[in-house]
Amino acid sequence: MVDQNVKLSLVDVHRHYKQGEGQLKILQGASLEILSGEIVALVAPSGAGKSTLLHISGLLERADAGKVGICDVATDGLGDRERTLVRRQHVGYIYQFHHLLPEFSATENVMMPQLIAGISDDVARARGDELLGMMGLTERGTHRPAQLSGGEQQRVAIARALANKPGLILADEPTGNLDPETSSTVFDLLANSIRNHDAAGLIATHNYDIAKRADRILTLKDGQLVPFEF
Ligand code: ADP
Ligand code: MG
Repeated sequence: MVDQNVKLSLVDVHRHYKQGEGQLKILQGASLEILSGEIVALVAPSGAGKSTLLHISGLLERADAGKVGICDVATDGLGDRERTLVRRQHVGYIYQFHHLLPEFSATENVMMPQLIAGISDDVARARGDELLGMMGLTERGTHRPAQLSGGEQQRVAIARALANKPGLILADEPTGNLDPETSSTVFDLLANSIRNHDAAGLIATHNYDIAKRADRILTLKDGQLVPFEF
């Protein structure tokens, strides 16, 4: 891909799963382009294929056919090792359940992806503290996940996803576990961070109030991405 402005590009992506003798067709020609600074919400019923689409977009899973471009990298033809490197460099992932490491403090959880990327301990710690500060968690750096509320855990997970300054943030129902007020705060922090980092975001959510604050809303219909209509 040559256009630096495109953070995620899906072209005619197909994905099916085996189901007994037959096939469960989940994605049947899903296409999408998300530009720098843009936040796209994905709203679709459970089982429609949202997580599958995010996994494929984040190179956690391979499409059966179609093209995936992330930042300026065309990923078709890459092997597993190269895909892992692209994912580490360009993608920040946020799950419904925070997936923080329980034995480590909030700061250490945010340091982890940086240490894996070869950043020194001091620099990673400074960036961890800075990001936790941005999330309003300055006082929580030494706390372990179990000592934090659900909303605080998700804010740490957002800080962790941003740690290596990824161009693309993928969030799979990031507020699915939170009360409405906390959801709103967490979404605003996530959206502001994406915009401030010149990144792009694809956020699967069941929450229409949140979806409405994205730049556009898509849904999955017959395995394709189409504009969502209220
Ligand atoms: P959503 O996130 O929208 O709820 P998913 O992408 O998780 O949907 O799943 C879409 C469909 O694909 C579901 O019917 C699910 O059961 C099925 N599915 C997901 N992953 C697999 C898998 N690894 N093997 C078989 N079926 C799967
Ligand atoms: Mg899902």
